[in-house]
Amino acid sequence: MDLKRAIIDLMPGPLVRIFAAPYTAGKGIASGVAKADDLFARQGLYSTVDLLAEEVFRPEDVEATVQVYLRMVEALKDRPYASISLKPTSLGIHESEAGCQHNLRRIVAAAAPHGLHITLDMEDRHFTDVTLRMFRAIRDEFDNFGIVLQSRLFRTPEDIRALHAKPCKVRICIGIYWEPAEVALQDKAGMKEKLFEQVQLLLDHGHYPEIATHDVPLIRRCMEHLDQRGVPKTAYEFQMLLGVPRTDIQQEIVKRGQILRLYVPFAEDWKYAVHYLKRRLAGNPAMALMVMKNMFGN
Ligand SMILES: Cc1cc2nc3c(=O)[nH]c(=O)nc-3n(C[C@H](O)[C@H](O)[C@H](O)COP(=O)(O)OP(=O)(O)OC[C@H]3O[C@@H](n4cnc5c(N)ncnc54)[C@H](O)[C@@H]3O)c2cc1C
Repeated sequence: MDLKRAIIDLMPGPLVRIFAAPYTAGKGIASGVAKADDLFARQGLYSTVDLLAEEVFRPEDVEATVQVYLRMVEALKDRPYASISLKPTSLGIHESEAGCQHNLRRIVAAAAPHGLHITLDMEDRHFTDVTLRMFRAIRDEFDNFGIVLQSRLFRTPEDIRALHAKPCKVRICIGIYWEPAEVALQDKAGMKEKLFEQVQLLLDHGHYPEIATHDVPLIRRCMEHLDQRGVPKTAYEFQMLLGVPRTDIQQEIVKRGQILRLYVPFAEDWKYAVHYLKRRLAGNPAMALMVMKNMFGN
């Protein structure tokens, strides 16, 4: 673990909330829905709305999380510019695979009649196998279910080949979790080169890549290459995190007639949001400085 991550890990929850405010829609489902509406109305941006909840252990808290997701389905079902993202560690994976899969299935089944898409986020390497197993089982039954793969992991090309016979939406990103050298690349340039290759591998296997990166040269490289290959602009999309300033490239993508989707998290209980927020801050400690400057007037 590096020094900046260690310092951020020691930050108390309320401080993390202040620093990470630009990355979140606010508190309650209504804040997530309002942000999705506003992003689409003002900028033509799509959203994937996520409840900030990780490391949820108690069965009653897991069930409360499922209930929030079911209410989110109701709130978002008539909004074609919105989808939902969720995580196994908030839906019972610490208790059992069968229980978590059951919870995921309840949410995907509720969203299916409305064509509302659900994306299963990918967490650290300890969860990769179980996440893929649950994904495949539910994808057998429902078409509105997609997954995330991380280009830093050596296993990812094999996971793409074995993903599913049916075409899937697959968010491809470098991965936010630190992973050891036995299983993952350690340099960002290498991870991004793999991301570029894996976008093509996904297309070759009939899947719909959701290219999740803020790296503008990488985005341009993907666009140019896929245009040259004659890949339709409707065969893939780009994704970014709410709060990362990328207005120009976002509008350029929208003007090309392509989907640019933002990850829009909201909180119900801040204590479960802190893990996610700390990772975002570790991703860019400069953000903490910016918030500090805004708060204290330079
Ligand atoms: C929509 C979306 C969903 C994701 N889902 C997952 C997931 O399920 N599992 C997973 O492991 N990872 C997920 N990630 C995180 C992803 O794997 C990367 O860690 C993250 O996107 C940073 O990588 P990058 O390609 O943008 O490159 P980087 O080189 O890390 O970033 C490029 C530039 O973007 C800006 N930037 C990047 N991150 C931040 C940040 N947090 N705050 C402010 N500025 C930033 C900085 O200016 C940075 O220099 C997701 C990312 C996105 C956009």
